Amino acid sequence: MINGEFGFWANRNEPIRADPLRESGRADVVIVGGGYTGLWTALALRAADPSLDIAVLEAEQFGFGASGRNGGWLSSKPVGMRRVLARGSGREAVLDVERRLLETMETVVDEFAAAGVDIGAERGGWIQVARTAPELARLQSSLAGHRSWGLGEEHVRLVDGDALRERIDIHDAVGALVSPDCVRVDPFLLLRGVVERARAAGIRLYERSRVTAVEPGAVRVGALELRAQRIVLGTEGYTAGLAGRGREMLPLNSAMIATRRLDDAEWARIGWDPAAGLSGSAHTYFYGQRTPDGRIIIGGRGKPYRFGSGFDDRGQVDHGTVRALEAIVEDLFPGLGAEAEYAWCGVLGVPRDWTPFIDWDSGSGILQLGGYAGQGVTAARLAADAAAALLTGSDDPIARIPWVRQRPRRWEPEPLRWIGANGLYRAYSVADWVEQRSSSPRTSVIAKVADVIAGR
Ligand SMILES: Cc1cc2nc3c(=O)[nH]c(=O)nc-3n(C[C@H](O)[C@H](O)[C@H](O)COP(=O)(O)OP(=O)(O)OC[C@H]3O[C@@H](n4cnc5c(N)ncnc54)[C@H](O)[C@@H]3O)c2cc1C
Repeated sequence: MINGEFGFWANRNEPIRADPLRESGRADVVIVGGGYTGLWTALALRAADPSLDIAVLEAEQFGFGASGRNGGWLSSKPVGMRRVLARGSGREAVLDVERRLLETMETVVDEFAAAGVDIGAERGGWIQVARTAPELARLQSSLAGHRSWGLGEEHVRLVDGDALRERIDIHDAVGALVSPDCVRVDPFLLLRGVVERARAAGIRLYERSRVTAVEPGAVRVGALELRAQRIVLGTEGYTAGLAGRGREMLPLNSAMIATRRLDDAEWARIGWDPAAGLSGSAHTYFYGQRTPDGRIIIGGRGKPYRFGSGFDDRGQVDHGTVRALEAIVEDLFPGLGAEAEYAWCGVLGVPRDWTPFIDWDSGSGILQLGGYAGQGVTAARLAADAAAALLTGSDDPIARIPWVRQRPRRWEPEPLRWIGANGLYRAYSVADWVEQRSSSPRTSVIAKVADVIAGR
């Protein structure tokens, strides 16, 4: 089994190469972070003002972060908490940002298709399965929530266990929410596509160039300095690694496995609609998809949070987590025996209110964006377009989407952060255990309390 090394997608694809920054200098805009957020922001800025000299600085290599290691759901699922956004901007603004997510998902697919660039896109929608009565009750309540926010049958609906089996045969399934609004992509190919577009657009790309200090008007890369009137921070889950920013975004860890390739008979047996993204409804959430080369990838378990906002070592996953993820596959499809051939993990950035933000401080010239809490593949493009509008002083309404707001309050100091994050994860595991053994359709009180503490 290949464990770590940035994960399945990076192993499957040729690495992306760029030079490091070698001398001090200046640019019109410096962007810190070479994931979707940083790169899309660079491209959106270039489109808004072709005269800009833009430099992107990546600490490791392009695609090192979550953008090169994720589950490949390019979806228009709502990102962040609707009630948080509505409190600041009103209902219409929330509806507007959700419409824009759907448009953005289509735009990403269409643009690469028109350019003849393969990002492994296949439209399959998403399925969220319920396997217990409380899970089904939560899906019903989630559906009611979607309806109250104007999402109709054409975007999401509830199906029973029999209807679900026509699309995927999951052991013990009692129902599912299904939606057509998700495109399966190869996340690394998508990242490469964005890098190549940025390169072709004349954007300066530097890898192995870790920013060690950020101040108004300049960033430092070790002994070098790059001066710029405008600086963008697109470091998402890695933001805690920047001096003085340890509590802005919780780096939540998510682990994944890719199984061996299944043969045609096995796929026929489990009947998985080829490109549908699959997720669960337990409190300890799982998500997955079929890979283009015929594997199941499943993610979700693992050590959710490392003390002091620490990061993984090149995506290495402990043995227990691999076994736990293999157990999910076996539990969904008993007897399949699809052991892991790849295991990896990555970090996603979670703000204190679980909702994205684009914080533009024109005084300091620093714009920070991110906080998609595990749903950034589509969202990063939308946030980037809004960021570029703000940075260039455009009066396009995109500059007023509700994600444009001050960064939420910081997370608690250690050891509270560690106790909270890991304690909540433990509580959710216990809640799942209780619900699986109960005949009641009610969500466990433990999970309800945990939700309140987590602020979700
Ligand atoms: C396992 C996993 C599965 C996921 N699945 C999905 C999914 O299916 N669908 C979905 O929508 N979202 C998913 N996500 C979330 C999604 O991948 C992220 O929201 C998105 O990639 C964030 O992009 P980003 O560019 O903001 O951050 P990143 O891709 O993390 O990029 C940040 C970059 O900044 C660099 N950096 C950090 N510090 C510095 C520094 N000091 N100097 C220079 N560079 C620095 C990092 O090396 C990194 O490359 C998943 C995330 C994980 C971890």
